[in-house]
Amino acid sequence: MDHASALRIAQRFIALPVDKRRQYLAKMAEQKVSPGNLPIPVIREQLDSLPLSFAQERQWFLWQLEPGSSASHIPTALRLRCHLDTQALQQAFDALVARHETLRTTFVVEEERPCQRVHGALPIAIEPLHLPATLAPEHQDAQVQALIEQQIARPFDLEHGPLVRLGLLTVADDEHVLVMVQHHIVSDGWSMQVMVDELMQLYLGFVHGRAVELPALPIQYADYAIWQRRWMEAGGSEQQLAYWREQLGAHQPVLELPTDRPRAAQPSLRGARVDLPIDSALSEALQGLAQQQQVTLFMLLLASFQVLLHRYTGQTDIRVGVPNANRNRVETDRLLGFFVNTQVLRADVQGALAFPALLQQVKQTVLGAQAHQDLPFEQLVEALQPDRSLSHNPLFQVMYNHQRQGRDQRTRQVPGLDIEGLFWESHSASFDLTLDTVEGEDGLWASLTYACDLFDAATIERLGRHWLTLLRSLVADPSRCIAALPMLAVDEHEHLHAVRNAPDLLHADGPLVHERIAQWAAQTPQATALLFGEQRMSFAQLDQQANRLAHALVTAGVGPEVLVGIALERGLEMVVSLLAVLKAGGAYTPLDPQYPRERLAYLMQDSGMALLLSDSALMQRLPVPEGLATLALDHMDLASQPCHAPANAAQADNLAYVIYTSGSTGLPKGVAVAHGPIAMHCRAIGERYEMTPADCELHFMSFAFDGAHERWLTPLTHGASLLIRDPQLWTPEQTYAAMHEHGVTVAAFPPVYLQQLAEHAERDGNPPPMRVYCFGGDAVSEASYAMARRALRPTYIINGYGPTETVVTPLIWKAGEQDSCGAAYAPIGDRVGERRAYVLDADLNLLPLAIPGELYLGGQGLARGYLKRPGLTAERFVPDPFGNGARLYRSGDRVSLRSSGIIDYLGRIDRQVKVRGFRIELGEVEARLLAVPGVREAVVVAQAGPSGQQLVGYVV
Ligand code: AMP
Ligand code: MG
Repeated sequence: MDHASALRIAQRFIALPVDKRRQYLAKMAEQKVSPGNLPIPVIREQLDSLPLSFAQERQWFLWQLEPGSSASHIPTALRLRCHLDTQALQQAFDALVARHETLRTTFVVEEERPCQRVHGALPIAIEPLHLPATLAPEHQDAQVQALIEQQIARPFDLEHGPLVRLGLLTVADDEHVLVMVQHHIVSDGWSMQVMVDELMQLYLGFVHGRAVELPALPIQYADYAIWQRRWMEAGGSEQQLAYWREQLGAHQPVLELPTDRPRAAQPSLRGARVDLPIDSALSEALQGLAQQQQVTLFMLLLASFQVLLHRYTGQTDIRVGVPNANRNRVETDRLLGFFVNTQVLRADVQGALAFPALLQQVKQTVLGAQAHQDLPFEQLVEALQPDRSLSHNPLFQVMYNHQRQGRDQRTRQVPGLDIEGLFWESHSASFDLTLDTVEGEDGLWASLTYACDLFDAATIERLGRHWLTLLRSLVADPSRCIAALPMLAVDEHEHLHAVRNAPDLLHADGPLVHERIAQWAAQTPQATALLFGEQRMSFAQLDQQANRLAHALVTAGVGPEVLVGIALERGLEMVVSLLAVLKAGGAYTPLDPQYPRERLAYLMQDSGMALLLSDSALMQRLPVPEGLATLALDHMDLASQPCHAPANAAQADNLAYVIYTSGSTGLPKGVAVAHGPIAMHCRAIGERYEMTPADCELHFMSFAFDGAHERWLTPLTHGASLLIRDPQLWTPEQTYAAMHEHGVTVAAFPPVYLQQLAEHAERDGNPPPMRVYCFGGDAVSEASYAMARRALRPTYIINGYGPTETVVTPLIWKAGEQDSCGAAYAPIGDRVGERRAYVLDADLNLLPLAIPGELYLGGQGLARGYLKRPGLTAERFVPDPFGNGARLYRSGDRVSLRSSGIIDYLGRIDRQVKVRGFRIELGEVEARLLAVPGVREAVVVAQAGPSGQQLVGYVV
């Protein structure tokens, strides 16, 4: 089809009333003709008013909301090293204004609709700018920058215009700075280039007194706006929307980059930039890789950026906004106006995907986007996410902008003029993060612009380094799968892996806990070991009584790997019994008599305990299973037993205790811990608590939890004394009274109870002078911590963190008087003793500082596993990916690492899928769920494993 007939078709199409236009468009579609391939006709004389393009309409709306904002200002600044003929420059600019309607367009509302008003003439004088008269030369650059920023910041009036402003600063006779600023409603980056080019050409013409022949403009911006609206309104939008709906789906996820600060409801749009050095070797290698993979450099860089975002967020559906210049036809090439359109490019980034496969995916996405580039972004938002939140950009939060040089503002060759693009620090950012790359003769140049509301410079610098490392990994071996592409620099990897997890030789070896207590009994026999009500027991008494009971237990068959259930009320006998089981070489499992009967029955069955140690009154109430051997303490004749320790065959790897946890994964399961790990833990934790024989610890926690065992063993293995609380929970008054009376120095409480103590202290004052308060077992809010600090004023507050599977508190945060949380929850600190702690992503890659991931714990302080549940044990204790054949426990906790080395707790990892009526397609799962009587609704807890989703358990 020749141009004239194409233009005729276009003209006929666009001038039709809307219903006819629809039919016409449908016919064209049948014949595979798209208006996108037809020239843009001029039909404005048939219209009463000139509409706005969709992009302009959005700008108009934003300007009305915030007329003072400079977020939509498009600036450029040039340094001209020559004598400047200011009159010729003004003439050139006047000619430019005469040539381009957009430079003399303003906006009005007519019949409730915004319209463009093109003025016949709109004189715009170039403003002279001045530096302060008394300016030291060393301050000149800063002053020039400030002047530029002032020019950019001044608001535009869209109703009265003009919407372009030129300022000229004369620095010296032969040095000038020209600052041009336009409102986005009449311009874009490309337009700015055109404007500078034409202005300079015209200027040289006027200087030399010769006419300049610029290419004719067959249409003006308003004609494009009419064309766009009429085409989209006739069904163009729907045709292209169908593609985008399919691409982006119904759900528009937000990219959750880990930020340094929470998102503000109303972002300030303040931004800053970080430049990334790309050396020529890397840039050439990337060019080569793109060629080899048959993609453009843009596609390769986009894919690499999407991998980076995937690694940083753990998300697999990664959307990035990409500007499209939208200048793919001759008649718009030289126009000034808002043409640039934004497209959302989505990638499905899976760790197991080979990078070349991702590249091909990205290529298809880019080509598809190009074929559907006419749909204005505003319409896409309207269709997919009409309820916008102001706190983040709709449809995408991160932008990638790739330019080929020539469109680069930094260098510009105009014969006869020495012009240099001036860079100034941009102070605005419309998106969370923008990657800019420029591809030129002299290599590749990249920068990141970030929202200052969300990020610190150091964070983005680090992100930039990770991207560069990824690029180098790609060039080194592009065939790897995404999860296997190294992102951390070698030294960073070393630091996170080896240095931070250096073995703790000090605490790795030593006596077992009962051996250590016996040493104290020999060393300080008269020192107080236990206090309960009016009762007191010295170390010597404790040791002897435990020895006697231990002999009786050995007689009853207790020895290594034999499990003894202990069901007793809180009191001296409880501690004596626990110690006696260890001395007999066996292992204990505590049963809290307050627990419901069903739970106790379940624990006695499930644990396979060989013996139940209790007293006759309690025994009456307990659902003791048939055939289980029992011993009632009050019916035993211990006086006849020897008071020295029995021979003990238990080794460090023999079982010490079994603690049941319900966790979030269904039925209670027994966690089996050996002697070695608990002994190591008590040595290390005692040192962190600075425990000495001078301490007296209040024992508050229920013996059903592993925390209670750390808290009876640590004081006693350090020669300190233990005050045992009554079986009935104490009020804060009672607790304070007991603490004052006995000179308590250390106490651990559940977070809720510590809060009550703090509230009580705020009301009544008189908190006991404590060395250490400890809380743990659950997240503690910043406010709660601050209150405890303020009201209780101990030397230290310790946050103890840990799953039972990792032996009580593998991590602690020990906070002195000056320490504040610095996060929503109290940090969980750093590792205790001979342990490893890693923050890993779903593919078990080490994550850099500040990036949330899952906490994995290893080293000596690990449970053996779950009692009689090898499957579950294998699922939660995974091989250490760092290769020393050891195991790591996956905690299910979301954490991130601070540069100071401490770990922040962020919450549980959400692996939950809510299922109703159990109609789920997980085979085995269904059977297990149906087996729970009376259960009608459950949350299935599944997690991504190497072979896809695996069921871990369910919560009723
Ligand atoms: P359990 O094995 O029953 O002791 O539960 C361990 C879980 O409790 C951990 O995985 C955490 O989710 C949570 N938890 C324990 N201590 C803390 C703490 N100090 N801060 C935040 N969460 C904690
Ligand atoms: Mg715990």
